[in-house]
Amino acid sequence: MKEPYEMKRCDKTILKVEHLKKYFNTQKGTVRAVDDISFNVFKGETLAIVGESGSGKTTTANVILGRYTATEGSVFYKSIEIGSISLTMRPIWLRREIQVVFQDPATSLNPKKTVKDIIETAIKIHYPQLNKYERIEKMLELLGYVGLTEDHLFKLPGELGGGERQLVALARALATNPTLLILDEPTSSLDVSAQSRILVTLLNIQKNKDLTYILITHDLAVVKNISHRINVMYLGKIVETATTYEIFTKALHPYTQMLLSSIPTISEEESKILPKRVEPRGEVPSAINPPSGCRFSSRCPFAIDICTKREPLLEEVITDHFVACHLVNKNV
Ligand code: SF4
Repeated sequence: MKEPYEMKRCDKTILKVEHLKKYFNTQKGTVRAVDDISFNVFKGETLAIVGESGSGKTTTANVILGRYTATEGSVFYKSIEIGSISLTMRPIWLRREIQVVFQDPATSLNPKKTVKDIIETAIKIHYPQLNKYERIEKMLELLGYVGLTEDHLFKLPGELGGGERQLVALARALATNPTLLILDEPTSSLDVSAQSRILVTLLNIQKNKDLTYILITHDLAVVKNISHRINVMYLGKIVETATTYEIFTKALHPYTQMLLSSIPTISEEESKILPKRVEPRGEVPSAINPPSGCRFSSRCPFAIDICTKREPLLEEVITDHFVACHLVNKNV
């Protein structure tokens, strides 16, 4: 397997997450949705955060966006701690710089507003100094970035296809000239051809504007073509993190292997590089009462005695490749 495109490693850290915890108190107990995770995001890269539902990936994104505040730990954006600042308390420059594209454009776009209204509202909020003609110029520029034309301006979201609606949502996010874009399952509601149009558009925009992406998804097939690095999460923990190339060619954690082996393959070459099928046992346990020791132990086909007794730490096993598994870590 080749690298999807040239690795763009850069030493400039744009976002630093340190020992982040996000707990929710419910009637049934405390949900430890994110439980002590740390990672960096480098300028100009795409970091994918993958995992099944309940892994904590969306909660992590929501803390970065300010929709939740951290229970413990920190999120530094350009060295400023933002994990404790809710969205409404964030200064306008910060809201401008961190934007999001949601999974379902049908619900994230107002069905009664035209494309022009939707994009112009974002421009007016963030750039009130622009006059009507400058706003139109900016709108056309934004539509151009995402491969739409002025013909789309006076259409309602319902008159567009799913892929086009997602491109409008992307144009709206770009209206504030963001630095960091969080892509929350951006293609999961789309058909295959619309998916590939969105992915190509995202790649082109990143190249031209040096944008940084955090891609939240359960679908490893999507991240293969767009991300530089991957954090794999399970029940609130990062269990493996490495470059996309490493994850797809040398995945070490049984959970990552399970996710990879469930990807449908279309060629013999593809099936050769994916790990042998790893069949998990049972269902994802509750984040209120996670298994002791390794959280994957109740489903892992390779679990040994120590797995239920001691929590494996996320350790570097090859350069830039970190794994939390007793079978892989050197100290067992
Ligand atoms: Fe499986 Fe044990 Fe590794 Fe957890 S630590 S993934 S239970 S082998």
